[in-house]
Amino acid sequence: MSTAGDEKYIKEVVLSTVEKCGACGRAYSFDNVTILGHEEELWFLMVVCDGCNIRGLIAALIKEHKRPQVITDLIEGESVKFAGKVTTDDVAAVRDFLNDFDGDFASLFGKRE
Ligand SMILES: [Zn+2]
Repeated sequence: MSTAGDEKYIKEVVLSTVEKCGACGRAYSFDNVTILGHEEELWFLMVVCDGCNIRGLIAALIKEHKRPQVITDLIEGESVKFAGKVTTDDVAAVRDFLNDFDGDFASLFGKRE
């Protein structure tokens, strides 16, 4: 059974929301999604497109008994888009996470050939 906190469930949620690459339209699969980590209910994932190799950062707010919310395009800086209703606290949590995560994140993104 899939529940909040389960990595397969998290990926399912993300793939059901971010179905395909925004640049070339290629559909994402489980293999394209990597879980980076989470801060309580806020999960961070990276997607890499097989078609054009574009990488994106996705944040997903996964709460028990509530409809999951996926926040995408954080990599593009200020143009953060929200799918669903997200509070300013959630946004602050994302920013805090990214601030703390910066070093690892850069190396993670640079790793793939
Ligand atoms: Zn693509």
